[in-house]
Amino acid sequence: MSPDLQPAALSGREAAPPFPTRLAATPRDLLPPYLDAVRQGLLMIDGSGTVVAANAPAQALLAAMTVTLRPNAPAPPLLRVLRAEAGPARRALLLALRRSLGQRQPAVFEFRREDHTVQAELRPVAGDRWVVTLEDVSTRKAIEARADAMARLDPLTGLPNRLLLRERLAEALARLRRNGEACALLLVDLDRFKPVNDTLGHPVGDALLEKVADRLRSTVRPTDTVARIGGDEFVILQAGIRDAAGTQALARRIVDLIGRTYMVEGHLLTIGASVGVALAPEDGTDADRLLKNADLALYRAKLDGRGTYRFFEPEMDARMQARRKLELDMRQALARREFQLHYQPQLQLESGRLIGCEALIRWKHPERGLVSPLDFIPLAEEIGLIVPIGEWVVRQACRDAMTWPAAMSVAVNVSPAQFKNDRLVETIISALATSGLPARRLEVEITEGVLLQENERTLQTLHRLRELGVRVSMDDFGTGYSSLSYLRSFPFDKIKIDRSFVKDLAGKPDGEAIIRAIAGLGKSLGMTTVAEGVETAEQMQRIRLEGCTDVQGYLISRPVPAEELARVFAGYPQA
Ligand code: C2E
Ligand code: MG
Ligand code: MG
Repeated sequence: MSPDLQPAALSGREAAPPFPTRLAATPRDLLPPYLDAVRQGLLMIDGSGTVVAANAPAQALLAAMTVTLRPNAPAPPLLRVLRAEAGPARRALLLALRRSLGQRQPAVFEFRREDHTVQAELRPVAGDRWVVTLEDVSTRKAIEARADAMARLDPLTGLPNRLLLRERLAEALARLRRNGEACALLLVDLDRFKPVNDTLGHPVGDALLEKVADRLRSTVRPTDTVARIGGDEFVILQAGIRDAAGTQALARRIVDLIGRTYMVEGHLLTIGASVGVALAPEDGTDADRLLKNADLALYRAKLDGRGTYRFFEPEMDARMQARRKLELDMRQALARREFQLHYQPQLQLESGRLIGCEALIRWKHPERGLVSPLDFIPLAEEIGLIVPIGEWVVRQACRDAMTWPAAMSVAVNVSPAQFKNDRLVETIISALATSGLPARRLEVEITEGVLLQENERTLQTLHRLRELGVRVSMDDFGTGYSSLSYLRSFPFDKIKIDRSFVKDLAGKPDGEAIIRAIAGLGKSLGMTTVAEGVETAEQMQRIRLEGCTDVQGYLISRPVPAEELARVFAGYPQA
């Protein structure tokens, strides 16, 4: 064992005797000349570290690195090159090399000189000798480095991707720890991007995303990072911030900038941005926490109507946990039979008779008591649980309606998410069949949210329902953006005028005019019109005068459990 390989050397004696120590006098003798034709550099060294032989490429490689490979050269090629290396990697390399030589184990290592990277592979061979192969891997390294860089960029926009964002965030957080440099994370989610992509096609969607990327890039400082981490999700890492004011200004700028119109392939497009902001160190000092908190803030921004920004607040976390608890509870509620249907009757004004009831779901939560659908239906829609819940509603409603007078129909509310599911029509057919309820006694209430999505398929489903004999109502009419145009797209049986217009009746002439107009529209289209939320006799009187055909509301009855319906029915003449 050479002194160089002693434990003392391992503990860091830098001036250890070099290895290999010299080149034999006639090195070429031992290597056949044809080995000069090999691409790799080949060296043969003996146990003392003396270079016994070297082929031409080895000499060329080491020569290129200004290491002369002369017989009896005072300085060893490999170690000298290694010693010339800078940085902490060198020590590790040296140690590995010595250990491997000491144990006569094969070793592979790399060293860099100027812009060359050389890979050396040492293998023990017979007679206490070593074969060393040398290879210039600079080109391969460069390709790898480029691939590495590419793997950190989003191919569409050229922006850093999630991987690079993570690295930059780690660097920023390291600076925070080192010298207290604060930073901010802004999560940007595009609003209404999906409909653009779905209706105008991916090329337009892609072009739009590129423009969004340009706008984002244009509004940050060079030290900030703009990354794209998902389809329509971007992140901005704002480095070295002094206070939240600059971050707030940036968030506001983003919302404004993204919300301006775009011209893409001849289409004038408008989308929006919701932004969630988390600050380091206030909202967290590790990457996961910051991303999570920015996400919570983003969620809040979306709940608050989108097109806005929100800074993280600790209570958001608490609210999210409550939501998660609700989600867990809801997943078990069906099996535990915690859902109930309440029914609210509808009165036909002309005959003074009850013509049907709307089924309204209630959740009898073991701890919270009765939970309003407004508090759990949106979550059920979001997590897809609305499909099994909705199926239960239809089946239960059909079963209950079978116990009512034969002229009474039952209306169920069907969410947009249920229309996305192919099973809806089958479910309804099966619910009718198992209950024995004639299809004409079942009514489906949809809101314009249903028609907003995948119009073709939705309309097909609606037509199939109509062919079965099921009636279709437009719920909450007048609250959407283009209720009128939806009336043209499908021959609804019934229009349900939203409660807000009925509330506006009190002394407001425009409320009256709107109800009159809708009633007239319904009449000429052959649809019945129901006013929702009628609470007073005066409202009912007005509504009658304006030409609505039916009313529903507390004045007739609040929604009641199925068992109490008979009592409500008894107060009205039967058909
Ligand atoms: P909706 O379909 O418009 O139902 C009418 C809502 O107005 C019901 O609220 C009803 O209790 C309430 N209401 C009825 N008359 C009056 C009145 O005179 N005054 C006032 N202030 N309110 C009145 P509810 O039961 O809380 O349901 C809210 C919404 O939840 C429903 O609005 C519907 O969109 C949804 N929903 C209820 N049950 C289901 C269901 O089984 N499936 C789905 N997908 N959604 C449901
Ligand atoms: Mg309804
Ligand atoms: Mg309604």
